[in-house]
Amino acid sequence: MITRGLYPAAIAALIGSIGLYAETHNPAFFINSLIEIFVLYVLSKRGWVLLIADVLYWVVIGIPITYFFVIYFYGITSSEFIKVIMLKQLLNGVLVVSAASLLRPFIPRKWHKLDSHLKLPKLSYRIFELSMISIVLPSLVITLILSNNSAKIAEQQADDLLGVQAEHYAEITSNHLTYHQRMVVNLANTLSWQHYDSSQKLELLLDAHSQYPDVFSMLVTDNTGYVTHGAPQEFEETLQKLTKEEKMVDDRLYYQVARSRNTHYISDVFQARGYGNDPIVALSAPYYAEEEFAGVVQATLNLANFKKFESGSQSINVYIIVTDAKNQLVYSSDLLNLEPLTEFSVAEIEQVYTDDLPLMNVNSSFYLYKKSITDSGWKIYALSTPDALIDSYKNDFYKLIASLLIIASIVLLVTRKFSKQITRPLETIVKHFSSNEPIPAKARTVYSSAEIESVRDQLQQAQFFMLEYQKTLQQQVEAKTKELREANEKLALVSVQDELTKIYNRRGFDQNAKNAFAVSIRHATPVTLAILDIDHFKNVNDQWGHAAGDECIIMVAEELRNKFKRDSDFVARYGGEEFVVFLAGGDVATHQKMLDELRMSIANHEVYYEDNIISITVSIGAYSIVDNLEITYDKLVSNADKLLYRSKSSGRNTLTAEQQ
Ligand code: GH3
Ligand code: MG
Ligand code: MG
Repeated sequence: MITRGLYPAAIAALIGSIGLYAETHNPAFFINSLIEIFVLYVLSKRGWVLLIADVLYWVVIGIPITYFFVIYFYGITSSEFIKVIMLKQLLNGVLVVSAASLLRPFIPRKWHKLDSHLKLPKLSYRIFELSMISIVLPSLVITLILSNNSAKIAEQQADDLLGVQAEHYAEITSNHLTYHQRMVVNLANTLSWQHYDSSQKLELLLDAHSQYPDVFSMLVTDNTGYVTHGAPQEFEETLQKLTKEEKMVDDRLYYQVARSRNTHYISDVFQARGYGNDPIVALSAPYYAEEEFAGVVQATLNLANFKKFESGSQSINVYIIVTDAKNQLVYSSDLLNLEPLTEFSVAEIEQVYTDDLPLMNVNSSFYLYKKSITDSGWKIYALSTPDALIDSYKNDFYKLIASLLIIASIVLLVTRKFSKQITRPLETIVKHFSSNEPIPAKARTVYSSAEIESVRDQLQQAQFFMLEYQKTLQQQVEAKTKELREANEKLALVSVQDELTKIYNRRGFDQNAKNAFAVSIRHATPVTLAILDIDHFKNVNDQWGHAAGDECIIMVAEELRNKFKRDSDFVARYGGEEFVVFLAGGDVATHQKMLDELRMSIANHEVYYEDNIISITVSIGAYSIVDNLEITYDKLVSNADKLLYRSKSSGRNTLTAEQQ
């Protein structure tokens, strides 16, 4: 339900806890399972495997809560029991989660609400989960069945053991009493058999007493209840000093019952006055002379010596409580710390440890017990701590937990190794693929699989084609880029070059000349700008055609280029049959001289065109500056233009030069 969200899971947990609550009336189950669901929900959202999340929950939260409830709700004090209960809770949780995890793949897909935001666990984690639950679930089921059986067996054994012990002590108690009773009866019979004089009676009495070490004292009365003899010797001597009244026991039950019922008698337990504080019982039997009641023989039996019976079975952890028919405590094991001769009644409490054995509370400790009753109504309780109950299977339980831990560690190691070997080839393939390095050839591992190798083959092929394609693409791009660059260069050139003459056009000239002009101004170097115009060019076109005119224009450009070759010289076709020259450096006179030489060489340069010989002249206006830093480039040009106009009007084929 966790995959469907927190609320459905919480509701499911509450419904699931109803059964447990009905059985135990313990609200802890509601709290525990709600918190468990919440923790599982939060952790599984973060990509935790359910099994691990649940173990974490139980170890950190579930077990402490259980501890609290076991102590405060059930009042269980046995530490061994608490340990086992807590571990059992952990195992139950793990069992249920394993079962749920195993069932998950079989649930229809549409029942799941798989959140795409969920963080996905690693493959190694998945493999670990799957291996863990498939190992843990069956072993848990088996061990829980086994431990359940062994719990039943342990309970049966405890039941048997306590039962046997109770019976055993009942028998010992009966025997102990009967044994001494018989002695008293025998002595009474001896006295009835024939007449003994006083000293013989005393001798018989002393002799009998000496043979029974548990007998405290013995006495013989006459038929009025007057004590005639006592044993041991000290008692006899004490008796001698007593008055007649003090020696009368006719008010005692052991005298009255033995006399009136003509039978032997066992008294309730009482405290030996004047002879220490041990619990004692009085045993008595009547004796007769010539078929007439002649008195009683009485013995007081010290019961404090019960311990000697118990010491024989010290290895088994069983405590004993013996009470008489009136629930007076006769004897109890030392460890129980009970006061002898007090009233003992069993405070029975609701059983929380087992189904069948009753439970009692002695000095605020819990004991399982069994009771046995002797013929004389004495009650014998055999007790054992609840620890004893689980002693036999707690070890199995710890072994189970330990082996589960070992299994989990081994599975963890193996699956990590295993999943690494599965995922590493994939990771290598993906890493190489995405960084465009060649995918390495197959390197077989123990867990190589056909699917992954097929992925490798296909990706290798895909990578090969991809790399080939990339190479071709790169070559194409390079070729195209080269073309583009050339075109651009051409374009750049075209934009500054005159098509016909291959020298600068006006734009190219202005760009370069303006820069050079600025540099010259800064350095105060002489500058000359000259404009040339072909004379009567209209006529050339008219007479020989446009193409012939073009040839003339080309010729002028050639002359310009040949004449001004320096880096600092710029020549250009300024438009139509007009040209322009920019000269910097040297001196102005040289500039003018060279311009005039140019004019002459153009005039002398004949152009041959279709069997025609064409001669042209040019007029030049040249304006020079030497150290005027104020003038602008445009002013320079317009000054030269004015001078050209003067050359034209003064008859053409001349150089008009001026410097400021
Ligand atoms: P002037 O001595 O006053 O300069 O006389 P001109 O005939 O040269 O004067 P004008 O400026 O009126 O004529 C220029 C002619 O140059 C007009 C045009 O047909 C011609 N022309 C301009 N550009 C070209 C060209 O690229 N090729 C040719 N063949 N002729 C051109
Ligand atoms: Mg012109
Ligand atoms: Mg002209």
